[in-house]
Amino acid sequence: VTGVYELPEPTTWAETPKRFSFSSLRAIEACPRKWQLLHSAWGDHPRFPERPQVKAIEGAIVHEAIEMLVVALGQRGLPSIGSPRFCEALEACEFWQHFDRAIDGWNRRLAEHPRAGPHDLVRTPAQQLANRAIRLVREQYTPLDAEPRLAAGAEPTNEQRLVDPMSLLRARRVLSEVELQHPELPFGGIIDFIELADIGIQIVDFKTGKPKDDHELQLRLYAVLWWRRTGTRPARLVAQYLADRREFEVTEGMLVQTEQQLAATVERVRVLLDERPAEARPSKDCSYCPARARCAAGWHAYQTAIGGPRVGTTDVEVAVLTDPAANGFLADVGGREVHVVYAAASRFSDLAVGDHLRLLDVVARDEGVTFEIRPWTEVYRVPG
Ligand code: SF4
Repeated sequence: VTGVYELPEPTTWAETPKRFSFSSLRAIEACPRKWQLLHSAWGDHPRFPERPQVKAIEGAIVHEAIEMLVVALGQRGLPSIGSPRFCEALEACEFWQHFDRAIDGWNRRLAEHPRAGPHDLVRTPAQQLANRAIRLVREQYTPLDAEPRLAAGAEPTNEQRLVDPMSLLRARRVLSEVELQHPELPFGGIIDFIELADIGIQIVDFKTGKPKDDHELQLRLYAVLWWRRTGTRPARLVAQYLADRREFEVTEGMLVQTEQQLAATVERVRVLLDERPAEARPSKDCSYCPARARCAAGWHAYQTAIGGPRVGTTDVEVAVLTDPAANGFLADVGGREVHVVYAAASRFSDLAVGDHLRLLDVVARDEGVTFEIRPWTEVYRVPG
């Protein structure tokens, strides 16, 4: 039991952000406590050191590659798989190079991570992850074979982007990765793609998953950013998926209403984050919330939802009943006596009778009578 496992709460609570993004507003509204716990300092760590999950990291590497490819394909009119323009998109986004680069970067970070064990390394070869990404694209992608929408001439400098995005758009016809801030509200975002189409200005966001209501709201907010920054109302918003496309017309009334909603949301999340700790909003997500061992409300809701210890890898709260011996100790779990045994050498000589612990990723055996602490189990001390 060390450092972060001993601290019952952050050493320095997170400040309310000076600027919000669409994803930070969504995360704070889903559970203000989670956002705050993850963004606060815990001892030496400027943020809560989220435990790395190798499978999730591999998934993120694959997802990131697909996202880059979808943007590059979108700029080239969504060409058919295997066509010269498809190959050009693969090259332009450095699709094949991405996997080696991402694996190296992650493994360097994992080697220094305070909550990563020796097993936590990405070992799947880059080629295998690339094949996984290509398989997903093959399964979902519906080509359009439309005209490419690439801008002519050199990429604009950051200064050019900042000075006048509307003149830049007129000159280039399309802009990609446009970062915009609202002039008055603390909100900003990066727009994937803006083009001058027949209908007028079209804002496009490329998505790799399935359509969600949230995507329209995100596009509306980006439309507000463009409108306030340039004074010109976009004509159409497009959510472009691998196999689908959703289009939304823009009216001035809709922009005004979206901006009012944005102002109200910003105000609401600021009030929420003023509380320390902020309000907890337990949900089914608590079972994989990285900070669940440090959130009493979420922990209890989640333990109640799973209805007591299950067999297999689980989380459990125990009270130590006997002095720890070399191979384990007796403990109380909700009024039941259980055995907690070490599958690795004992690491808990400083435990005492009466200590309360939350064990994450412990292995339950014998219908929940025995709990095995494995090398990857994490032990959080709960203040009495
Ligand atoms: S455990 Fe649940 S309620 Fe608690 S911070 Fe995490 S998501 Fe929010």
